[in-house]
Amino acid sequence: MITRIPKTPACRQAGITQIRANMDLHKNVQYLKGVGPQRANLLKDIGILTVYDLLTYFPRDYADRSQLKLIAQLHPAETTTIQATVLRHQVIYTRSRRQILKIAVSDGTGTVILVCFNQSYLKNYLPQGTTVIVSGKFEKAANRKNVYEIKNFVYEVLSGDHEDLIHTGRIVPIYSVTQQLNMRFLRALIRRVLDEYKEGLVEYLPESIRQQEFLLTFKEAVEWMHFPPDFPTQQQARERLVFSEFFLLETALAMKHFEQQHQANGIAYTIHKTLLTPFKELLPFEFTADQIKVISEIFADMQSTRVMNRLLQGDVGSGKTIVSFCAMLLAAENKYQSVLMAPTEILAEQHFIYLRKYLLPLGLNAVLFTSGMDKKIIRQNQEALVQGTAQIAIGTHALLEEDVVFQRLGLIIVDEQHRFGVRQRSLLRQKGHNPDVLVMTATPIPRSLSLTVYGDLDVSTIRELPPGRKPVKTLKVNEPEAYQFIKNELSGGHQAFVVYPLIEESPKFTLKAAKKMALDLQEKVFPDFRVGLLHGRLKVKDKEQIMQDFVAKKIDLLVATTVVEVGIDVANATVIMIEHAERFGLATLHQLRGRVGRSSAQSYCLLSAEDKTVDARSRIKAMLETTDGFKIAEEDLKIRGPGEFFGVRQHGLPEFKVADLARDFTLLARTRELSFDLVRQDSRLTNPDHRLLAAEIKKIFAGRINLIHIG
Ligand code: ADP
Ligand code: MG
Repeated sequence: MITRIPKTPACRQAGITQIRANMDLHKNVQYLKGVGPQRANLLKDIGILTVYDLLTYFPRDYADRSQLKLIAQLHPAETTTIQATVLRHQVIYTRSRRQILKIAVSDGTGTVILVCFNQSYLKNYLPQGTTVIVSGKFEKAANRKNVYEIKNFVYEVLSGDHEDLIHTGRIVPIYSVTQQLNMRFLRALIRRVLDEYKEGLVEYLPESIRQQEFLLTFKEAVEWMHFPPDFPTQQQARERLVFSEFFLLETALAMKHFEQQHQANGIAYTIHKTLLTPFKELLPFEFTADQIKVISEIFADMQSTRVMNRLLQGDVGSGKTIVSFCAMLLAAENKYQSVLMAPTEILAEQHFIYLRKYLLPLGLNAVLFTSGMDKKIIRQNQEALVQGTAQIAIGTHALLEEDVVFQRLGLIIVDEQHRFGVRQRSLLRQKGHNPDVLVMTATPIPRSLSLTVYGDLDVSTIRELPPGRKPVKTLKVNEPEAYQFIKNELSGGHQAFVVYPLIEESPKFTLKAAKKMALDLQEKVFPDFRVGLLHGRLKVKDKEQIMQDFVAKKIDLLVATTVVEVGIDVANATVIMIEHAERFGLATLHQLRGRVGRSSAQSYCLLSAEDKTVDARSRIKAMLETTDGFKIAEEDLKIRGPGEFFGVRQHGLPEFKVADLARDFTLLARTRELSFDLVRQDSRLTNPDHRLLAAEIKKIFAGRINLIHIG
C-alpha cells in the first residue's frame, strides 16, 4: 500500500485525507459515477472537463417551480407550472393534413390538454401514466368549458425517485445544453457532485474583505448559484461570484502594476531642452492644456527609473502624435532611439511626412520601414539604425523583422494599439533594454474595460480638441440629398470622402461597392470634379499616390473603403458620407467620422443607412447623438458586449463566467479599490491570510498575466 505523505500540517489531522480524496476538483468528469467516456464527451462539448468545470458551469436561467399550481387554480394567460399525470393521447388531422397530437394530463383537480404540432414523437416520451411537470401559459380550450389547453410549453418528466426534488418543487436551474446532453442528467449530476465535492471549494478571498463586503463564502455561492432556496439568495450568490472574478483579476493586475512601479531597471531620462526648446519654437501652435498635462505625465514616467507603461487615449485629431513626438525628442536628447509603429502603411507614411518637417530643422534623422519598400532602401535604413545615425524609426509591422536592430532603443510608441496583437508589442520591446512604452489609441476605451484590459497600465487622456475645431455635425440622409450637399462643399473648395463597405459588388449582398460607385459618381453625379478611388487591394505605390493626390488637392472626392479609417489627416476635407452605414461597427463609424473636422471649417458626417436591426438602429442613434468618443465607446460596449469590443480577446482579456462588464461595473470599480489597497499592504501576497488568494491567482493567470499587460 502506498502511503501518501501529507503536504501540510493540517492534513495530518485525522480524517482529512479522506476529505481530500473527494476534494480533487481537477478530477476528470469521465471517472464520476454515471458518466463514463460517452457522456464525458458530451460534457466536453460544453467545455466541462473536470469536476471544477462542472461546479462552475452556472445556469443560464432558472425556472421557478417552487410554486406548483393545481389545475383547478389555473388562470388563463399566466405563466404557471403544474404537475400532472398523462391520461391519454389523441392524434387528429387538420384540413391541410397536418398532424396534431393532443395529450390529456390530469392532477385530480382538473384536466389540461397539451397540444403538440409536428411533435408526434412526444407520444413516446410521455406515455400514459407518466408524471410530468408542465410550464407555460395555459388557455381555456375553445370548445370545452373548464378544460385548459397549452400550445407552447416546457415539460419535464418525473421519474418518481428521490431525485425529482432536484427538478421540481423548487427554483430549478436551467443550463445551456446540447441536443444530446440531457438537462435532467446534467442537473442531477451537478447536484450529486456538489454534495460530494463542495468541501473542496476552498475560500480564497481574505476573510476580512469577505466580511466587510458582506459576501457569501465561495462554497455557499457556488451551491446557491445552482440551487438557490430563493431568488434573493441567488442574487447574493451571483454577486459573490462576480466580486471574486473581478477581485482575482484586479489583484493580479495590481500586483503587476506594483511590481512595475517599483522596478528601478528603466531608463531615467534627463530633460536637457536641447531639442525640446527649439521644437517648441518651430511649432505653429500652442499645446492645449490637456496636451501639456499628458506630456508632463509622460515625462515624469520617462525621468523616473521605472519602465514607462502608459496608454495615451484621445479622440481622433486630439493631437496625440505631436505629444508622442515630444517623448521621442526627450529620448533623443538623451541619445536614445525611438520607434513609432503604426498599423497601416498609409498611416506610417503620414506620420513620417508629418514629423519630418520638424526633424530636419532639429538636425534629427528618421527612417521609414514598410513592407512594400525597396530592399536597398530598407538595408540603408537598417544600417542607419544600427549605427545610430537615425534617431527615430517609423513604420508598420515591417519594424518587427529580425533585421531591424537598434543601436540604443529607449522608447517605443505604438499608434492605434488595438490593431496590434500582444506578441507584436513584446517583439518590439525585445529590441531594446527595458525601453519605455507609450501606446496610443483613438478608440477610447470605456472605463470598465480599461480597468480590466489595461488594468496594469497608467492612462493619460486628452479630452480637449485643439482650439477652433467645431464638432462634426452628423446627419442621416438619403442619396440625392447627400450628393447635393457634397456638391456644395466641393464647390466651396473643400474635399469629401464617400465610404462603402465593399470594394467590389458581390452576388451575396445587394450593396453598393466602392469600385463601381467611383465610376458612377465621376460620370453621373460629379462630372465637374475629380473623383479618386482608394481601397485595400491597390498596390502600395498606387495607394500612396492617391493619398498624396488627395492631400495635394488633385482629387476632390475620394471614394474609399475603411482603409481611410485610421488616422488619415486631410484638414481640407469637410464631409464624409458613409453608405450602408448599418454595416459598420460603432467604433469604425466614429473613426471614419474622425477623418473630417480637422480644421476650423464646419464638417459633416452623412450617414446613409437602412437601420433595420435593433443593433444597427442603436449604432446610428449613438452617432447622431454624440461626437464624444468616450460616450461612443460606452455605447459600443453595451451593444456588442466586451468579448467583441475591439477584438478584445487579443489582449488576453479573461472571459468571465458570471460577471458582465457593462452591468457589473460598480462592483468592478469597488474590487479595484480593494485589490489595489490590498496589494499596497502586501505586494506579493505573502501574508498567510492571503496565501490562498495568491494560489488562486496563480492558478487562473499562470502565463496569462503577461499577456494582459501591453508592451
Ligand atoms: P491624433 O493623432 O490624436 O489623431 P494628430 O496628432 O494627428 O491627432 O493631430 C491632428 C491635427 O491637429 C494635426 O494636424 C496637428 O498638427 C494638429 N494639432 C495638434 N495639436 C494641436 C494644437 N494644440 N493646436 C492646433 N493644432 C494642433
Ligand atoms: Mg493619430
